[in-house]
Amino acid sequence: MPELYYAVICILVFIFGSCIGSFLNVVIYRTPLIMSIVNGPSHCFTCGERIKPYDLIPIVSWLFLGGKCRNCKAKISGRYTVVEALTGLLFLAAYLRFDFSLQMLVAVIYFSLLIVLSCIDIDHMEIPYWCTISIAVLGIATFFTEPQMPWWEHLVGAVVIAVPFAILALFGGMGGGDVQLMAASGFMLGWKIVPSAVIGVIIGAVYGVIINLSDRKLNREKKEKLKEIFAPWVEGKMTENSKDIIVGEYEYGKCKIDTEIFEESAWTDPEAMKNHDEEFENALTELMGDIPKNHEYVFRVFVENNAVTKVKLQRRIAFGPGLAVGLAIGALFGETIIKHYLDLL
Ligand SMILES: [Zn+2]
Repeated sequence: MPELYYAVICILVFIFGSCIGSFLNVVIYRTPLIMSIVNGPSHCFTCGERIKPYDLIPIVSWLFLGGKCRNCKAKISGRYTVVEALTGLLFLAAYLRFDFSLQMLVAVIYFSLLIVLSCIDIDHMEIPYWCTISIAVLGIATFFTEPQMPWWEHLVGAVVIAVPFAILALFGGMGGGDVQLMAASGFMLGWKIVPSAVIGVIIGAVYGVIINLSDRKLNREKKEKLKEIFAPWVEGKMTENSKDIIVGEYEYGKCKIDTEIFEESAWTDPEAMKNHDEEFENALTELMGDIPKNHEYVFRVFVENNAVTKVKLQRRIAFGPGLAVGLAIGALFGETIIKHYLDLL
């Protein structure tokens, strides 16, 4: 019964993938904190109880325990299970697409890195350097696993994507980590980077719009308060008929004003403006105190003639996850997408 045999293989690949996903959860949690990956058993974050080996079965344990710690009944984030299931599904997709081959091996390592960097990007707003370096190394491996792709296509893939993404980064939105991720992936995927980038940017943009729409009410309140705090602070400090934009950001739950870009002629004592006013910054930090520490915001306060005219506030979004979805789709179906697109022309 070849069908049954095939189904069993698929299930085994999925289970193997979800076990790797379980390991990825450890990498996601521990590497940014520079903790050992291998040493130290898993423990509950709430009660500290060491988790029993039979409670560490991917997906199943979490479902069986109803998403709670067996010992203290504290809620355990569903994300661990999502990561396990997603890794299992991507391993399965790589098997269905490439069969058991070196190409499949490269694909599953690539997908694992994409999952890790997406989660770390969500948690810390940063794509770790070791992930993008690893992708570039995988790119070198594809010279051997995909010999039909000419060497220059790897270089074209990197350059063709690095330039527009570097420009996007200059105008804000994307970060340096996003550019590195796309350049390294372009080096690995060659032309397949083009559909990947298009899909990734669309998903990232939609995600950004949803985040900022859901933040709208909160933003309106915070903007009013920012205005209230800034109004007395700028009063009497500006020169006549002058205007400026004060730019600041919230990072790791702290407010930082970018004093380097103050328009010197707009202020009567520009040097004093560049000194950090701790009390004032504390008031600004307190304003956003109720927001999760891993959320980053950028604000622009428009000031004119000693008064605040307008405040803009925007949450910075992690582009990594959106780009990663595009990259995974491109790695699996890039050739098919390009072919269909060329047929349309
Ligand atoms: Zn517990």
